[in-house]
Amino acid sequence: MSHIFPRHTAMRPPRAVAGDGCYIIDETGKRYLDASGGAAVSCLGHSDREVTEAVKAQLDAIAFAHTGFFTSEPAEKLADLLIAHAPAGLERVYLVSGGSEATEAAIKLARQFHIENGEPTRARIIARRQSYHGNTLGALSAGGNMWRREPFAPLLVDMSHISPCYAYRGQQEGESEEAYGLRVADELEAEILARGPETVAAFIAEPVVGATLGAVPAVPGYFRRIREICDRYGVLLILDEVMCGMGRTGHLFACDADGVAPDILCIAKGLGAGYQPIGAMLASGRIYRAIEEGSGFFQHGHTYIGHPAAAAAGHAVVSALVDRGLVARSAEMGERLMDALVDRFGQHPHVGDIRGRGLFLGLELVEDREGKVPFAPERRLNAVLKKAAFARGLVCYPMGGTLDGRQGDHVLLAPPFILEDAQIGEIVDKLSGALDDAL
Ligand code: PLP
Repeated sequence: MSHIFPRHTAMRPPRAVAGDGCYIIDETGKRYLDASGGAAVSCLGHSDREVTEAVKAQLDAIAFAHTGFFTSEPAEKLADLLIAHAPAGLERVYLVSGGSEATEAAIKLARQFHIENGEPTRARIIARRQSYHGNTLGALSAGGNMWRREPFAPLLVDMSHISPCYAYRGQQEGESEEAYGLRVADELEAEILARGPETVAAFIAEPVVGATLGAVPAVPGYFRRIREICDRYGVLLILDEVMCGMGRTGHLFACDADGVAPDILCIAKGLGAGYQPIGAMLASGRIYRAIEEGSGFFQHGHTYIGHPAAAAAGHAVVSALVDRGLVARSAEMGERLMDALVDRFGQHPHVGDIRGRGLFLGLELVEDREGKVPFAPERRLNAVLKKAAFARGLVCYPMGGTLDGRQGDHVLLAPPFILEDAQIGEIVDKLSGALDDAL
């Protein structure tokens, strides 16, 4: 038996040996339709030769040169390509190795910006409940998933948490969507004022909440109000698109749909599409200049930032998304998958909500649909559903954590953008069967 340290010590997962488009194949030859792209990672599927060739070519040229001494062609090309398509104002790209590293770097950059900018009292980060920003201690401090935070609470930094924009549970009777969005956005202003604007560094949020809520976009107008509030009080806006970025929602950057540009944007997952571990933090020209004209040094860094082979993968992936029209395909196939889900589960007694954007979709599972009553903790479906789906050859991403203090359930779907109609049918059939098995 291997000495590997598995995620779940009781688990003996099958060995993945090959990839074929949207499928992963194990050592027995069993095929699994990857309907969640792992965790919203594999946007190009599992056998994209253009990406693997780009990585191989870079490895043959030079695998690694420390960024304390060198830059590399793929890192420069990737930065240029991202900025060519990025929301207005973002001008610089800091390459890291994953999502937690990106959000961690963003939090530190926000803090350092204020020091360089002559406002050293600004240190507080405001985030939202029921969010996820990564598993390192800074990112976990920002996150609002109680289950993930709990064991490490004594190690976490004090940050503020306001309500998420989660209309299914938060919008009140008789309240319009717009009024709801403004009401929850205004919690940010209240928190800034309560803490004192001169103490607040940044607000961080996912444009479409992934792991913790299951593909929940904000209602229209919410992020525009958030942007206004940040600007009014000199607070930086960090958008965490680690999961929802890179075409996942049918826009290259999820915030494009909200008509808002952040000061700092975090991406990962789909950026490397699983071919290499890579993430990035995009920063505004204003922030970059403050560092450039100040200390001249972003006081951060990991050994593998800007890794050439990872950057080569990132560049090949973003080129594929842009040149092959895959972002538009994510939007189009997302609509078809949504229609198929609504057809099959729209009236299901245990499916309370079906939501999301592009190929980033979620179903909220409830005990009682009318009353939106979540399953009791002892009836949690996540693990059972995951197992049942897996047995049927479907990889999906069931998670809990919907309610503060109580676990709700949702299942996240984030298949590769190369998805075909036949596979939409396969996802819906297998998910339906798995749900029957699990209930
Ligand atoms: N931010 C968001 C929104 C995420 O969904 C995740 C991972 O699921 C992270 C950050 C952390 O990324 P990673 O797991 O690559 O460290």
